[in-house]
Amino acid sequence: MTEKLIRGNEEFVNRMLQEDPDYFSRLRQGQNPEIFLLACCDSRVSPSIITGMPPGNMFVHRNIANQALETDPAFTASLHFALKNLKVKQIIVKGHTGCGGIAAAREEKVDPEMEGWIREVRNSLPDPEAQPDLTPDELSRLNVLHQVKRLKEHPVYREHGWGVKVDGILFHLESGRLELLT
Ligand SMILES: [Zn+2]
Repeated sequence: MTEKLIRGNEEFVNRMLQEDPDYFSRLRQGQNPEIFLLACCDSRVSPSIITGMPPGNMFVHRNIANQALETDPAFTASLHFALKNLKVKQIIVKGHTGCGGIAAAREEKVDPEMEGWIREVRNSLPDPEAQPDLTPDELSRLNVLHQVKRLKEHPVYREHGWGVKVDGILFHLESGRLELLT
């Protein structure tokens, strides 16, 4: 498996060098991305690939079901670095249809190792007893909108996010298309 990655990387390097021999020496000089993007870990939704963005354009944080949690030190550090140090101009929360994290949040039981995180995902969603008819994809959509709201209420955003727009988008696995939700 690892060999497959190494081979893929060789092809990537050759392609980039063909287009621009100085590509990697410029990349080494530093990053100046304009976008901070929060996405799900799902292997099918890789943000750079589905948007055709080359390296250097997006500072990306990923976790299961793209949660913008104030209590998550990893997310908080990423958001802080993106806003204060990189001075990104735009924040995007990207969810997707067919999200396993969202589906797990609607299940009664998950493995104990997952429970803490899935509980957070569950807390992001409407009460199933109040709205039992929402489909998983409708929940994915509501989850994105909830994370956009949370992100804007995050203390780091309140302190360093002045003028930085926060958008929510949904990646439709069944068509490959992105839908702007905000
Ligand atoms: Zn997902």
